[in-house]
Amino acid sequence: MSDFLLQGSQNNQVYLDANATTPVLPCIADVVSHTMQICFGNPSSPHITGIQAKHLLEQTRQKACTVIGADTGDILFTSGATEGIQTAIVSTLLSVKNHQLTEPVLMYGATEHKAVPNTLAHWNKVLGINATLLPIPVNNKGILDLAFIERHVKNALMICTMAVNNETGVIQDLNAIETAIRTHNSDVSWMVDCVQALGKSALALSNTSIDYAPFSGHKLYAPKGIGLLYIRQGSAYTPFITGGGQEGGMRAGTENLPGIAGLNKLFSLLLDKSNGTFKSPDILADYRKQLHLAISDTFGDITYNHDFDCSVATTLNFTVNDLTSKEVIDLFDAAGIRVSGGSACSTGATRSYVLDAMGVSNWQSENAIRLSFGPAATAQEIAQACASIRALKPILQANCLVVSDSATPHQEVCAIGLTQYRHQGACSWLYVSEDKHAVIIDPIIELLPRFEKIINTQNLILMAILDTHKHQERASGCQLFSDLFGLTDNQEQDDKLGWPDAMSKIQIGSKTLIKHATPGHSEDSVSYLLQTADGKIEYCFCGDLILPAGLGNTLLLGGDAYAMADSLITLDKVINNDTLICSGHDYQQCFAMTWQVQKQQTPLLEKLLTGGITRDQFSLEKHAFDQQKQQLSTELCGYIEGQPDKNTQQIDVDLAIEMLQQANTYLIDTRESYEHGATDITQLFAINADKIFNIPLSRMANALTQRTLHKGNRYIVLCRSGNRSVQAAVNLAHLGYENVYNITGGLALCH
Ligand code: PLP
Repeated sequence: MSDFLLQGSQNNQVYLDANATTPVLPCIADVVSHTMQICFGNPSSPHITGIQAKHLLEQTRQKACTVIGADTGDILFTSGATEGIQTAIVSTLLSVKNHQLTEPVLMYGATEHKAVPNTLAHWNKVLGINATLLPIPVNNKGILDLAFIERHVKNALMICTMAVNNETGVIQDLNAIETAIRTHNSDVSWMVDCVQALGKSALALSNTSIDYAPFSGHKLYAPKGIGLLYIRQGSAYTPFITGGGQEGGMRAGTENLPGIAGLNKLFSLLLDKSNGTFKSPDILADYRKQLHLAISDTFGDITYNHDFDCSVATTLNFTVNDLTSKEVIDLFDAAGIRVSGGSACSTGATRSYVLDAMGVSNWQSENAIRLSFGPAATAQEIAQACASIRALKPILQANCLVVSDSATPHQEVCAIGLTQYRHQGACSWLYVSEDKHAVIIDPIIELLPRFEKIINTQNLILMAILDTHKHQERASGCQLFSDLFGLTDNQEQDDKLGWPDAMSKIQIGSKTLIKHATPGHSEDSVSYLLQTADGKIEYCFCGDLILPAGLGNTLLLGGDAYAMADSLITLDKVINNDTLICSGHDYQQCFAMTWQVQKQQTPLLEKLLTGGITRDQFSLEKHAFDQQKQQLSTELCGYIEGQPDKNTQQIDVDLAIEMLQQANTYLIDTRESYEHGATDITQLFAINADKIFNIPLSRMANALTQRTLHKGNRYIVLCRSGNRSVQAAVNLAHLGYENVYNITGGLALCH
């Protein structure tokens, strides 16, 4: 990837993740650059270059005081808010080391940025304070519980709150918090994280008894690596970094003058309202309204996770009621719209602790989207953002992600064949025949709204909704799904897993679904076999009997390793080597696995089926294996046995473009079809559309039975960041496709 490519990738993007970080404004970048090249002095030098630098430093400090309303106290330049938080906490904890409290507590808002509780916990331990960390609850609007503060603050060594929340934009009433604190404790140290308030909410720190207030430059158009800490006059202070005595001995190290110059320019823009860079609250509220409308019109059914009346206008936190945050973010990203799920700083977290503290539903917390813009956003940028969001509607409709309100929706049929739907490692399967007859296997309750849309928008004729066994880790969705889709009439005559008792087979288009008892994981376990008109078993929906590169756990209620051995042996007689094994879980993220490869990758299974061990031996070994795994693994339903090779052949985009010009070389876009639909990648790779396959991981098994891919061809796999495509490449390699190459870094490094 060249520098040029990285720059180019920013051109068409709509950036709506300002709470994570902001771009540096051009006028600020100019000043920073000038300071690096021309006014580059060291403020400690006695010569004129140094004096000029010192002047810039002090002038910035003065402007900072005006911006945050600090007539007295100290302003310290730091590397960012996290350093400011450390400094405030260490200073306080050192000053209270000899406290006389019997039950000391360190209080912090339950919705604080993680930098706060983690820093409190760390220094509490390191300094041997051993106080109890006490989160202050919030109500359903995210507002701190003042009565709780009043009850506990007399035992507090420190209290940390925030002015504006980074995930929801919720504004705290600092005056009310101050009254709650000071009525009961006049001198407890109070830190207020003001990072997300600067430029969005008025501050007058000297009028308060706030002891420390950290700020960060990169959240408001200044560079990364610069921030400041306000320290009230007389509040405890211990230098966190010592050395050459800079910053009056309060923070050593040569000052980050370019960063400070950036802050200087930022403060000038904030102070001089006439330049119009920072928009008034009314204008920002109008921007929010426009975005709100665009989101609602596009996604329909959404829930806002905060109250607009008590949050800054620049943050919108919402959940689409029937799309996961992953789906929404992937779609946005494919269309060049950058947003985040929950907090960018908690990437990897599956739910939002901020929203949990506010008591929202699991679905809202797990699938929250944060859309944030900076207070210097222009009307044109907001209009562009709204247009880009609205442009997603046809893609959502075409992919059954929203129910179309158009009389003639352009609807690509997205469901024909087999699709895997995953929720936290568990899999539901939807099979749809050419004539739109459908069956859902192992329905997961959380996926119900999604299935509802697919069934309704595509007018599918649902033939059955089946469980492969009574899942022990979750409630079955069978009943709920059957009620919703009107399949309950025959309920009395159905077995407990949803199969109509009167029927020995279910016809799904030209194919036949057969029930085959396969106890072992549980007593009631069955496998459903989908047979083609010429008698071949195409798919085996085996629940938790078999998992990719593993077998189901036999230690759960009704589990029986001996019965499992029997089931595997009889199953082997009815299915073929190229039957696709569709499990109830896919911990390995294999997405497609043939019976032949399954046998190769599961040594115990292989031994059993080739006569290497008897059923009794299998039973003993499996029992011991499950017992051992039960102690080590967090998985419940089954355990991976083999450790298949995960190596892939990696190439960069330039080589991919070159290779794609050759015959028999194809590109596989492994992103979901809605993402694929949102980006035109033909130009990027200089190839025609017929050289590109869109095979999302969820449709990999389907592509295999469709014979879409050929082992003699060369395939280059692609996704957004290289993660999903690596999984596809590994999966294909296991299945015997030798010429598969992954584009390192995916589309993110391709533009
Ligand atoms: N506090 C809040 C509310 C934030 O949003 C952030 C950044 O996400 C921080 C603290 C940490 O700031 P910095 O990146 O400057 O260390």
